[in-house]
Amino acid sequence: MNTPQTAPALPMPTLRSIDGILHVEDLALPAIAERFGTPTYVYSRAALTAAFEAWREALGDRRSLVCYAVKANSNLGILSVFAALGAGFDIVSGGELARVIAAGGDPAKVVFSGVGKRREEMRQALEAGIGCFNVESAAELERLDAVAGELGRKAPIALRVNPDVDPKTHPYISTGLKSNKFGVAFDEALTLYRRATSLPNLHISGIACHIGSQLLDPAPMAEAGQKVLGLVDQLAAEGITLEHIDLGGGVGIRYRDERAPTVADYLAPLLAVFAGRSETLCFEPGRSLVGNAGLLLTRIEYLKPGEEKNFAIVDAAMNDLARPALYDAWHEVVEVAPRAADAARYEVVGPICESGDFLAHDRSLAVAEGDLLAILSAGAYGMTMSSNYNTRPRAAEVIVDRDHAHLVRERETVAALYAGEHALR
Ligand SMILES: *Cc1c(COP(=O)(O)O)cnc(C)c1O
Repeated sequence: MNTPQTAPALPMPTLRSIDGILHVEDLALPAIAERFGTPTYVYSRAALTAAFEAWREALGDRRSLVCYAVKANSNLGILSVFAALGAGFDIVSGGELARVIAAGGDPAKVVFSGVGKRREEMRQALEAGIGCFNVESAAELERLDAVAGELGRKAPIALRVNPDVDPKTHPYISTGLKSNKFGVAFDEALTLYRRATSLPNLHISGIACHIGSQLLDPAPMAEAGQKVLGLVDQLAAEGITLEHIDLGGGVGIRYRDERAPTVADYLAPLLAVFAGRSETLCFEPGRSLVGNAGLLLTRIEYLKPGEEKNFAIVDAAMNDLARPALYDAWHEVVEVAPRAADAARYEVVGPICESGDFLAHDRSLAVAEGDLLAILSAGAYGMTMSSNYNTRPRAAEVIVDRDHAHLVRERETVAALYAGEHALR
C-alpha cells in the first residue's frame, strides 16, 4: 500500500515515509542516491514555494518586498524558483549579483548589503540597475557617490543602521549590537543622511537594519523596528523622506525542538509597529526560506565500534556541511530506510583528518554499512559554506519537483579542483 505517513516530528514539510522509505515529495531518496551518487544536497521545490508563500501571506496586502538572502543558498536552481515567484534578492557581492541575473532575477528588486563593497562591484550593480545599496559606512557613501558620478548615474541608497538590540542568538551570528562591524550607529546615521542629501549622485531611498540570524523571539525585531521608525520620523522632520524600510532577515527555523514561530507569528508584533505607515517594507530572509527545504543525503562508508563511542563514518563531511563543526549546530539525522534491528548510539563523522569533523554526536540509529542517512535542515548555509578541504569535490545538488529530480549542480570533479593551479617545472 502506498499510503504516505506524515511524520510531524521532521522539520522538512515535504519529507515523508512511504512503505518505510523516506521520500522528498514523491521521490524516494534511494533512487536519488542511485542516480546522482552521494553526498548530494536534495531540495524540495514545494517546500521552497511554501516557505516563500508563508512570507507573502504574512505580509498580506501591505506594500512589501521579500528579498531572498542569496548567501544562504546561491544555487541557480534555487534562485530561479524564487525569481519565478516574484522575489527580490539580497546580495553581498558582485558574484551573487551575477548569479541572480543568470537565474532570471529582476535586478530592480536587488538590495546590495555588505561592509566591503569594491568599486568594481558598485559599477557592476549600477550598470545592472539594482534597487538599492545598503550603505554601511561614511567612506562607502563617498565612494558610491564618486563611482555613480563616473557612470553618470544616481545610486539608490539606504543606510544600514545599528539599532543596538540584543537578538539573543549565537554571538557569531548576532549583527545588530554596537560592538560589531556591521552598519552605522544611530547617532552617526543622522549625520550621514544629511551628508547624503548633499552628494549629487545619490538618491536616498530608504533605511535598513539586520540584527542577527536564527532569531526565535519576535520581540528584538519589533524593538529594532520601533527604533528605526523613530529615526525615520526624525529624518522626515528634516525633510528627508524615505520610500522603504528594510528590516533585514534573521527569522529562525526549527532544527531540533526549538519553538520556532511561524513567519506570520514572528512578523505580527513588527507589523503592528508599522500599521498605517505608507513606506514599503522590505525583508531579507535567507534561512527561513531555504533551511528546512533541503537535506544532505549521505551514505555510511563504515561502522566503527569503539570502547567509548561508536562511529558511523559517512561520505559527507565538514567540508560539505560546516555548521556542526563551526557553530556546534544540531542537525536531525534520520535513516532513509530504518532497519528493524536494535538501534545503537553513534557519532556521525566524516572522513576528514580533523577531530572536529563531525555532523552529529551521540545519535540513536538502526543502521548497517552502506545505508543512507538524511541530514535535515541543511538547505541554508550548507552548500554555500562548503569547501574543498582534503581535496574533496563538492556535492551534487538536486531539486525535487513531485516525482522529478532536477540536477541543479553537477558533482564537482577532482580535475576541476586543480584546473587553475600550476606545478613548477
Ligand atoms: C545573512 C544576512 C541575511 C539573511 O540572514 P538569515 O538569518 O539567513 O535570514 C539578511 N540580511 C543581511 C544583511 C545578512 O547579512
